[in-house]
This record gives sequence, structure tokens and C-alpha cells, in this order.
Amino acid sequence: MTDDTWHRRTKAVHHGSRRSQWGEMAEAIFLTQGFVYPTAEAAEARFVKAGDDEFIYARYGNPTVRMFEERMAALEGCEDAFATASGMAAVNGALSAMLRAGDRVVASRALFGSCLYILEDVLRRFGVTVDLVDGTDLAQWQAAVTRGTRAVFFETIANPTLEVIDIAAVAGIAHAAGALVVCDNVFATPTYSRAAELGADVVVYSATKHIDGQGRALGGVICGTRDHIRKVIEPYMKHTGGAMSPFTAWMMLNGLATLDLRVRAQTATAAAVAAALKGHPKVLRVIYPHDDAHPQAALARRQMERGGTMVTIEVAGGKAGAFRFLNALRIWKISNNLGDARSIATHPATTTHQRLPEAQKAALGITPGLVRLSVGIEDERDLIGDLLAALDA
Ligand SMILES: *Cc1c(COP(=O)(O)O)cnc(C)c1O
Repeated sequence: MTDDTWHRRTKAVHHGSRRSQWGEMAEAIFLTQGFVYPTAEAAEARFVKAGDDEFIYARYGNPTVRMFEERMAALEGCEDAFATASGMAAVNGALSAMLRAGDRVVASRALFGSCLYILEDVLRRFGVTVDLVDGTDLAQWQAAVTRGTRAVFFETIANPTLEVIDIAAVAGIAHAAGALVVCDNVFATPTYSRAAELGADVVVYSATKHIDGQGRALGGVICGTRDHIRKVIEPYMKHTGGAMSPFTAWMMLNGLATLDLRVRAQTATAAAVAAALKGHPKVLRVIYPHDDAHPQAALARRQMERGGTMVTIEVAGGKAGAFRFLNALRIWKISNNLGDARSIATHPATTTHQRLPEAQKAALGITPGLVRLSVGIEDERDLIGDLLAALDA
């Protein structure tokens, strides 16, 4: 009961909904592990080939989860999607499902720590060659993505330095070599994403972030063509057990209904936060994708309608200065989640990126004074007031 001509905000509220005979308003939570067949013949037929809205076992699929998958695919402009237990289950599934020993993956170096673990520890252990490049340097992509490269992987916008990767250009290089493009799209959010349109073959989200948006549940999703999702991703996911729970899918459906409103409000405040901190004597650097001082501002504007919900700053005084600032915040919470309705401040060097060797931190620009701000939905005046007061501390 949905229409392809609807715009994203309408799809985010309605797409994929099914109602039972009771006509419930909110999507039903089908908290069931299994399904009952009217006859033995019906069970046999379903195991041979399950039709649309025919389910076998919740590890393979579930009606509430299916509503979330269809809604995500529609928002992302992809044919299909598979929901997962977490963002990392999605990244692992997206890569492991299609790679085998002897394959080569080229990835941007600026990645979430757990993504680096999958590439450098897990995939290499299984005989996959992994090459890391500076994702903003197209010449490095061009040199590394040789024939025989099976997949290209990157995160854009990158965490925590907010580098922007040129999706269309990297996809052009990858496709010329016969590689698939897997994009971890958390920072762009489905509101600003144009990843599939720009050439990403597989788009991966941690739904834990903006999609839930309220810090309640872990979740993830892999979006792509129907063929890729059903023939490559689904067999791997359904047999390895990374399925999303129906209760989580129900929360994520509710998250999607307000995603666009939240993300646009958070983005407007993020731009105001970036502007308010620019030139502050205790702030050495403000990084925001649509700010003129961002080295890739033009690309960020081409690729994303707005600059997003994240602002990264470099506080004067190194680690001690950053800690003094964090400890003086009253509204902003010290945490490592992002995309939440609550504003969050993170010190990447000692938390999310602690595991990285010092040299790698330096190469990625993760300095001791760097603080990542995930802007929430609170009143802009209170948020900026809290930041300025903490900088004075
Ligand atoms: C959080 C995050 C992940 C991992 O998601 P989880 O839901 O925590 O497993 C992967 N990639 C990026 C860019 C993230 O921000």
C-alpha cells in the first residue's frame, strides 16, 4: 500500500507497513521465532521457495523486520535490504558474504575501529588481501584498485575527522576494475544519503545511531540490489545468525518515522555550533563538512544537501584541555554513541580510537585535543551556552 512517487519523508512514515486483520495503527511486533503451516505440503512448498510475506524462521526473516527492511530500502533508493543485529553485523555481513581467500579489498584508512578489525584481523586471517589508502586521494584509489579487486570499502563522512570521500569518483574507479562499492553511510544518514545514486552498490548503516536516534537499541542494515541481497547477503546472514530482533525492528520503524525531522533539526543546530565555535580562542580548529574552511567543502556540498549532525573541534591544551572541557559540560553527555537526540561529546583518542597506535592516530588527525560533537535536538541556545561555558573552564 505504498507508492514509489512518494518523497522520502512520506516513505519514512509509511513505506512497507502491513496491517493484520485487526487494522492496528502502529506496526505490530511479531515476537515469534517461527511460523505455522496449514499443511505438510505448504511447509514443503515454503522451504522450496518462500514467497513475499511468507516466513520460515526469525533468523531468516520476520514480518516486523521485513517492514523495517523494505522501508530502509525505499529510503536509500535500493531494491532490497537485510536487517542485522548491529551495525558491525551489517559491515561484517556486507564484506564476508561476498569475499573469499585470494580476493582483494581496498579500503579507506579513516574507519571506525571495529571496521578496521574486520578488515585487518578477520579478513586477512581468511586469506583476503586488504590495502588501505587515504580515502580523500583519488590517485591512491586509482593505484590500489587493480583488476582482481573484489570490493572497495569506505566510510563517508569519516569518523571522527569528517573527511568526505568522493563516492561517484571512487565508484567509477572501482567499477572500471570490476569491484563492488560498499559504503558505510552512518554519518550521512538516510536523510542526506545519495550513496546508491552516486554509485555505491551496497550501503550499510548502523541503525544504532540516527535511525534509532534515542540511544535504545543496537541494529544495522545492508541495502543493495535484490539480486545481491537475496543471493549473496541473505544466505550468509541467515545461516550465521546476525538477524535483527522483531522488537528492535519495531523500535527502528518508530525511529524512521521521525528521522528526517530529527536529523534536519540536529543539522541546523550543528551548523550553528560550528559557527559559534569558529575563532574562539580556546578552539584551534572547527571541522564541519559544509564550512568554507573544510578542505572538501565543495565536494561535501555536491554530495550532501546539508553538512550533517556532527562537528569535530580541536580544543587548546591537548588532552588536559580536552578533558577539562569535557568535564565542565553540563548538557552534553560524555559518551561514544552518536546520532542520539541527546547531545554527546566524545574524546576519540582515549575512547573510540584508543586501540590505534600513536602513529596511526597522528596520520588520521586524531590529536589529543580532538573532541567529536554529536549534536542532539535540544535548544540550540542551551547547547552553545554549555559549550562556551565549558571552554571558559
Ligand atoms: C557505530 C558505527 C558502526 C558500528 O555500529 P554498531 O551498531 O555499534 O555495531 C559502524 N560504522 C560506523 C561509521 C559507525 O559509526
